[in-house]
Amino acid sequence: MPKRNPMHTRKEIRIKKERLKRQLPGAYQRLSCCTLCPRNCGADRIRNETGYCKTTDQAVVYGYMPHFGEEPPLSGTMGSGTIFFSHCSLGCCFCQNEDISIQGDGEPASPDQIARAMIILQDKGCHNINFVTPTHVTPFILKAIDLALDMGLAIPLVYNTSGYDLPETLKLLDGIIDIYMPDFKFWDPVAAETACNAPDYPEVARKALQVMHRQVGDLALDENGIAQKGLLVRHLVMPGDFAGTGEIMAFLAREISPETRVNIMSQYHPVGKAWQNNTLSRPVTPEEFRSAVRTAKTHGLVMVSCPGHPRTRLRLFDNHPVSS
Ligand code: SF4
Repeated sequence: MPKRNPMHTRKEIRIKKERLKRQLPGAYQRLSCCTLCPRNCGADRIRNETGYCKTTDQAVVYGYMPHFGEEPPLSGTMGSGTIFFSHCSLGCCFCQNEDISIQGDGEPASPDQIARAMIILQDKGCHNINFVTPTHVTPFILKAIDLALDMGLAIPLVYNTSGYDLPETLKLLDGIIDIYMPDFKFWDPVAAETACNAPDYPEVARKALQVMHRQVGDLALDENGIAQKGLLVRHLVMPGDFAGTGEIMAFLAREISPETRVNIMSQYHPVGKAWQNNTLSRPVTPEEFRSAVRTAKTHGLVMVSCPGHPRTRLRLFDNHPVSS
């Protein structure tokens, strides 16, 4: 019999509601000349303009589901309540989910619909709500959380991001998001420019991880090993050490915390434009992966493994009609 999820207390929920009341107006204001992410497009998204992420004044959701392929502290026995947002402000050339991130497969969803999806996932017993690729839709997520808290949402909230996040946007989430799960993808600006046209990625990610860690600290688990609060970093090993794994692990141990939990991931394989790059046009070898794991262990970081990422979904409206 699965144990009941620990829920936030009434006091914790009241604190989140107070924070949301303060932070929501500012979040929506940033949409009219959008500076939510480091692309700084300045698009007036309220008036239907789009920037790099191709998203206007409404989130597009690919689907939601209890996900059993996330890291064990998130998936537990009942799954991580994952909500996949379409489009992306980073746009890696090797993205395995190009249909969602680039082509924008999904359905427009109001904050009310997203809130109801959260409640459905909580009712299914999920250990947390896991917002995947949230950066460009942060204001809508905050509004949805506000509504969902009124509907009884009380499980931890996970911000599952590329790491291309501005301190100003992360500030909007302070005291509301419980668990940050950023990638740290590249150390070298040239690699970041080649892979995702974002030479500032390494600098942005370093700052972002410091802000996230200051907000939530190291990952804290309950007595069943389920994450309640803190930072969990993902790192995808890339061929020819394109990612700069050694420098990233050293940074985590030195500048974030030697107790940082890291998932070193092996599943890189070339897709899309990655085939056009000599280094990126092959998978990672077993020795490259083992070497990355050794490096992380040498720095004393806490390893978290991941069983895989099967992708099936509940569409927002097909299985659980919700009124907007
Ligand atoms: S969130 Fe989108 S529109 Fe806003 S700055 Fe980033 S890429 Fe541009």
